Amino acid sequence: MAGIYIHIPFCRQKCHYCNFFSLASQKLKAPFLTALKREIGLTRDYLGNETVNTLYFGGGTPSLCPPAALQEVMEMALKINPGNSAPLIVTREFTLELNPDDVTEDFVSQLRETWFNRFSIGIQSFSDSDLAWLNRTHSAAQAIRAVSLLHDAGYHNISIDLIYGIPDSTPPRWQENLEIALSLGIPHISAYALTVEARTPLAWMIDRKKSAPVSDELQEEQFRSLVVLMRTSGYQQYEISNFCKPGHHALHNTNYWKGVPYLGLGPSAHSYNGSSRRWNIPNLTKYLAGMANGEAVFEEEILTPEQRYNEYVMTSLRTMWGCDGARILHDFGPAVYETFSSGIPPLIRQGWLFESSGVFFLTDEGKLFADRVASELFITG
Ligand code: SF4
Repeated sequence: MAGIYIHIPFCRQKCHYCNFFSLASQKLKAPFLTALKREIGLTRDYLGNETVNTLYFGGGTPSLCPPAALQEVMEMALKINPGNSAPLIVTREFTLELNPDDVTEDFVSQLRETWFNRFSIGIQSFSDSDLAWLNRTHSAAQAIRAVSLLHDAGYHNISIDLIYGIPDSTPPRWQENLEIALSLGIPHISAYALTVEARTPLAWMIDRKKSAPVSDELQEEQFRSLVVLMRTSGYQQYEISNFCKPGHHALHNTNYWKGVPYLGLGPSAHSYNGSSRRWNIPNLTKYLAGMANGEAVFEEEILTPEQRYNEYVMTSLRTMWGCDGARILHDFGPAVYETFSSGIPPLIRQGWLFESSGVFFLTDEGKLFADRVASELFITG
């Protein structure tokens, strides 16, 4: 089992907080789509004979591309290895990230000619003043209309992204955001804390005192209210930032957290196959030149058992499936298991972890300190 991620590196404009690799100019879109098809040919062997069961177009803004062009890339990508001789049968989830202002009646009718069966909409907020502050290109009304156009077309496997902890926002405004999100009747909501990434306009604005800094207290308060409201509304918190109605978790992202191999295509995309990690260089000009010459554009590291263990602890603890002691013993051996189990008691005493049948989970309080909890269990040096 494996996944394919395809990175489309174009946006209408850059959001103030964003450090994903994407360009505000779309003039290289056509050569990029051609290069992407070449990359598929070059990376054929990375997943071995694994069967691809999820495919995800992210970015950047994939909805800036015509759906027919994405379908063509998808069909090529799914023929990437022998495990996928019947791609439509084995691939269960085809996700497309959308920005609300791209979702028009015409765009949705074009989607019906494709295999996409899940949509992740970058809404971020239902407050127009938050959206302006974030430098998003759409309004709250466009976001609500995007969901309703997809519903009208019979698409119900929809996720939306929200951002909390925006300095300008207030707890009532965040609550209102969540209530609007819940009123849309969608099965999946992802909510992320606003992060100040280096070399972004947001970092510059905070540095120059043109914006209030991000407040840990506000983020914590909004995260707590998020968890309570999602839970009382029947959503499972299956990963710290991801909530779904039972049975509607994202297969593609869940596979990342479960250590399932994936292949990333496009500049800056990452790949993992169980023993190595690759990352394509985040530079479109070099990417295009590399593909034109039939040359790979990635860097690669072979993962040590310690790195694989650390990664398992970090990702599994964030999920509702938890971190399995028996799996650590089986996959990494008694010495690693000893390190793991000796780190557990203080974290349980602290109230950050609990155990059930040999599997360890973050408590609600522990979810506020997930990175710190994981790092206490890491093997370093
Ligand atoms: S649309 Fe998404 S990828 Fe593009 S700049 Fe905004 S946050 Fe970044």
